[in-house]
Amino acid sequence: MAYKSLYRKYRPQTFKEVYGQEYIVKTLCNAIESGKISHAYLFNGTRGTGKTTIAKIFAKTVNCLDMKDNKSCGKCLVCKCENTEEIPDIIEIDAASNNGVDEIRELKNKIKLMPVMCKYKVYIIDEVHMLSTGAFNALLKTLEEPPEHVIFILATTEPQKLPITIISRCQRFDFKKISIEKIIERLEYISQKEKIKISKEALAEIAKISDGAMRDAIGLLDQLSSYTNKEIEINDIYELKGSISNEQMFKLVNSYITGDIEKLLEQIEFIYNNGKSFYLLVEDMLMLFRNVLVSKKAEKYFDSKEIANKQDIKEISKRLDYKNIENIINKLEDLSKNIKNSNYPRVLFEVTMLADFSENIEKKIVSKPIKVVKEEKIIISKPIEKEKKPALEIKIDSDNNVTFELEDDRKLDISKKILINNTIAKASNVCKKKVNEIYKELDKFIIDKKYKNAATILKDSIVAAASEDHILLNYKYDSMVEENDKEINNIVGLIKKILDIKYKLVAITEEEWKKERPHYLELKKNNKVIELIEEKEEIKTDKVNSNDSNDYVDLFGIDLIEMEE
Ligand SMILES: [Zn+2]
Repeated sequence: MAYKSLYRKYRPQTFKEVYGQEYIVKTLCNAIESGKISHAYLFNGTRGTGKTTIAKIFAKTVNCLDMKDNKSCGKCLVCKCENTEEIPDIIEIDAASNNGVDEIRELKNKIKLMPVMCKYKVYIIDEVHMLSTGAFNALLKTLEEPPEHVIFILATTEPQKLPITIISRCQRFDFKKISIEKIIERLEYISQKEKIKISKEALAEIAKISDGAMRDAIGLLDQLSSYTNKEIEINDIYELKGSISNEQMFKLVNSYITGDIEKLLEQIEFIYNNGKSFYLLVEDMLMLFRNVLVSKKAEKYFDSKEIANKQDIKEISKRLDYKNIENIINKLEDLSKNIKNSNYPRVLFEVTMLADFSENIEKKIVSKPIKVVKEEKIIISKPIEKEKKPALEIKIDSDNNVTFELEDDRKLDISKKILINNTIAKASNVCKKKVNEIYKELDKFIIDKKYKNAATILKDSIVAAASEDHILLNYKYDSMVEENDKEINNIVGLIKKILDIKYKLVAITEEEWKKERPHYLELKKNNKVIELIEEKEEIKTDKVNSNDSNDYVDLFGIDLIEMEE
């Protein structure tokens, strides 16, 4: 037996089996049962919402050979027929392929003939808006005075393209998109019947991607099940669709709005290397920022809707103001038009994303410091009370040379920033108390050969924060911090000797801590999770001199500066 697509196999054969479109089904059933059948119907709705399916069921139901009290029997040849093409009185015309006047002229000639076996001749004209003007005129003539035994069902996705004279002669039904829940329900049923193993997450994603089109949803399930024998996971969907996972997209968007150019370029490269479609990516991003806008402007509405990744979307929306979001949407919209026809979608995507950085990156960030993101390359987080100057300025000149400039007054070494972050991430009062115990013991080491310097230095410090394996120390003066950093190995050793724990230690001045602290307070206040950052290097004893860093990079070689240096 030839392979039958899941969509055809599970195409509803009776009104009872139809998922969604309850109102339309009910109205049509009532019309049949009360004997008030119209001679022309217009089914309007986006693709895959069941127009043709319902048209076929309607055609069969009115033509039941054993109608009793206007109810179909469910047993006769017509009722039982799974393929309406076998019934000569149900005639389907696809206007998208047969858009000539001839088709309609032939229809006009044959229309007068009585049905072969049924009560009605039913003409289902799909994509009716594709008919030529001549064909429309011919159709109009027949619609003006249709014979008693003829029913027209016109289906369209674009009713605005239909002449008003046609619309006015039809009873119109607007097909809604099928809800995500209904689609999931149907997909679950089919996967059970077909013994297709698929995760709940993946089912929901298919339903989401299909955007209310049952046919697309079932088609996608069909493709996926032939593509893998294992349980279908959400990533299989992305793979098949050439789109990127939500997780990847949120990473990318986060780098974009936080101004983390290195991460952004890395993520673009990843997408490129994995052969993903930049066009689809831009489409997904547009949808994402549309949701960001909705969550900003109409929070209640947003909360009431079935939208994936709500929390992440809200997070982004908090960080951007209305104007920013609007700008981004406009940019993406332009990009989506251009990228479709571009031979170099990656370059176009990069240029558009990076152009933003050369503009007013600071405006993109609403009064909050940049969130420190996981993984090794990070952006320098900006203390809250500083003026609007960005921590990292990116300039692109007319020759497309990209220049990075670090903020002049930036004092803290990036590795220190990481250690501070990681201390605060898991800091607790219990740990702090424990570390404070060292001060009682320091005097014992003042005459110790190995640890006397360490002990002397430590006496001037205070514990600003501590976790189970990290300590953040404060000193009053810069020079003390320098002493600390020079002696750091011994200080760590001394603390280990006292508390029997090898801590990672970071020291800054009280002044510096005052600048860093609000950022973390803000995060804690908002119950944000402070993510741990990989610590690549040991603490440098020398302070970073931003003017010495290698500021020049090759835009497309992605030979980016190592900010840790
Ligand atoms: Zn029947």
